[in-house]
Amino acid sequence: MRIAILALQGAFAEHRQMLARMGVDSFLVRNVEDWAQPKDGLIIPGGESTTMMRLVQDLDLCSPIREAIKKGLPVFGTCAGLIMLDHNHLGTMNITVKRNAYGRQLGSFVANEEMKGVGKVDMVFIRAPYIEKVGEGCEALAIIDGHIVAAKQGNQLVTAFHPELGEDTRIHEYFVDICRVQFKIHNS
Ligand code: GLN
Repeated sequence: MRIAILALQGAFAEHRQMLARMGVDSFLVRNVEDWAQPKDGLIIPGGESTTMMRLVQDLDLCSPIREAIKKGLPVFGTCAGLIMLDHNHLGTMNITVKRNAYGRQLGSFVANEEMKGVGKVDMVFIRAPYIEKVGEGCEALAIIDGHIVAAKQGNQLVTAFHPELGEDTRIHEYFVDICRVQFKIHNS
């Protein structure tokens, strides 16, 4: 098993460290050559979604990533990575997203809330979006003050917060479990 991490911009190094801590192999994707390597999952990190989308387009990574996800490659998008999957960006996930949803003053905060399938976790929000609405096939996994902050649609997992910060590996384990199932389907 090997997980690709989109490394054009943002918090990719922290995701890589988290996977290393779990003993899961990963590699960084900076161009189409990197992307061509075999992979069993993809992480799209937090950062700045407008910049990240522009880089993805400039590097001709947009269609290959979109097609791979549509074919079932598991993907985990955090914060800006969540935005990257909505219909204004890669468009693989049935979600309506509000960017910078918590305003400037309340841009960053920590909550401890329940995430379905994982349990109670610390959630670090940094100028975070939230999901206004999930469409068909998409399930909300965590809700804070009536706003969806984690969701899953098939093999696509997103969090508005940053599970790569801190020591808790449970959300990454949850994603890697999705990758393992897909890996078994692929290799059986
Ligand atoms: N505010 C950023 C955006 O809109 C996301 C912030 C983050 O990823 N921490 O792209």
